Amino acid sequence: MIVVMKAGASKEQLEDVIARIEAFGYRAHVMHGVEREVIGCLGDERGKAELQTLQSVKGVEKVMPILSPYKLAGKQLQADPTVVTLLAGSGESTMKVGPGSFTVIAGPCSVESEEQIMETARAVKEAGANALRGGAFKPRSSTYSFQGMGEDGLKLLDLAKQETGLPIVTEIVDYHDLDIIAKYADVLQVGARNMQNYALLKALGSTTKPVLLKRGMSATIEELLLSAEYILAAGNPNVILCERGIRTYETATRNTLDLNAIPAVRARTHLPILVDPSHGTGIWSYVGSMSKAGLAAGADGMIVEVHPKPAEALSDGAQSLKPKVFSALMDELEPIALAVGRTLGTRQTSWQLERRG
Ligand code: PEP
Ligand code: MN
Repeated sequence: MIVVMKAGASKEQLEDVIARIEAFGYRAHVMHGVEREVIGCLGDERGKAELQTLQSVKGVEKVMPILSPYKLAGKQLQADPTVVTLLAGSGESTMKVGPGSFTVIAGPCSVESEEQIMETARAVKEAGANALRGGAFKPRSSTYSFQGMGEDGLKLLDLAKQETGLPIVTEIVDYHDLDIIAKYADVLQVGARNMQNYALLKALGSTTKPVLLKRGMSATIEELLLSAEYILAAGNPNVILCERGIRTYETATRNTLDLNAIPAVRARTHLPILVDPSHGTGIWSYVGSMSKAGLAAGADGMIVEVHPKPAEALSDGAQSLKPKVFSALMDELEPIALAVGRTLGTRQTSWQLERRG
């Protein structure tokens, strides 16, 4: 249920209503609006009737049901877009994911060696990426495939961060690894195969690190948002969604990048959404087209695989861009970013610099 306070209700009245909500066994989630406060009552829906009685309490304008099954991810409690701020190790704010920017996260599928990650980090930074991606714990379809370097991979990502200042985005597969991964990562990626790993989602709700939640390959948009709700309800508001392609009958591409998801997600939630044209296509030469399409469709950014030697990559080489190709793609994305009113990565066009004085 939602309790809408009267415009001008006092702080005492608000506190009284919160205390009553909590006494009924609910968690009160207060949204401070320009004119009035709105309180979301989170908990077992069987107690709706008790909450209705708040209608007659001083300071309350009305009590109404939350219609969406994803109460915190939905737009009823929060209409304004969430902007997720990424903090690099130094504690300085380095980038914001949300309206007005097209955030670019680039790097290899897996961390493989110091040389590989350093070369990639330098190149993607030079081309204007905001953050470095790289898997140290890999969820592979085959148990015989490379499973990632583990903590040694995290240490290499840290080395790259020390030199370039780029925040690190890396995948968490098992919640037992949370402490060790959170020590190095700036964004915790939940892969498609783990979108419905509820124990993992709840554990991620206990941190405040941004979580990049990828859509499961057979998940509906509603299921994606219900998964995001687990993280939000457990206390972490910093959730970024990602469309990475879904399974369809089509075999010409690895997955079908569902660009419909961008406006459909936008219509249902205030959370930012990225596209992943690498897993969305599986073929490096298609990545440019789908990056451009994602930007034009309204995505808040992209996560893209870049490898200095794709032919030698231990995972996902076929969909990885060489650094030069990535840099050329960034050049091609610039006019589109300008046309849709977003800043591309860390690049600022002369037009944008002029407007900002
Ligand atoms: C990845 O980003 O390398 C990855 C494994 O992605 P997904 O979970 O979308 O398959
Ligand atoms: Mn990959």
